[in-house]
Amino acid sequence: MLSSRTELKCTSCGRTLRTSGSTQFLCPSCGEETIGRCVRCRDQSVTYRCPKCGFEGP
Ligand SMILES: [Zn+2]
Ligand SMILES: [Zn+2]
Repeated sequence: MLSSRTELKCTSCGRTLRTSGSTQFLCPSCGEETIGRCVRCRDQSVTYRCPKCGFEGP
């Protein structure tokens, strides 16, 4: 049983996304990388950066 393969981390701060209120979405630029955002980074509008194409967004 694989239990940790889908663990997602916040793209901005690296925290594991486990709490409610966090969000995840595909990169709006390349659509291949999943961007994760924790509640804290959402609240403070911290920018994220796609590790695949380098796209940066709020
Ligand atoms: Zn974060
Ligand atoms: Zn991308």
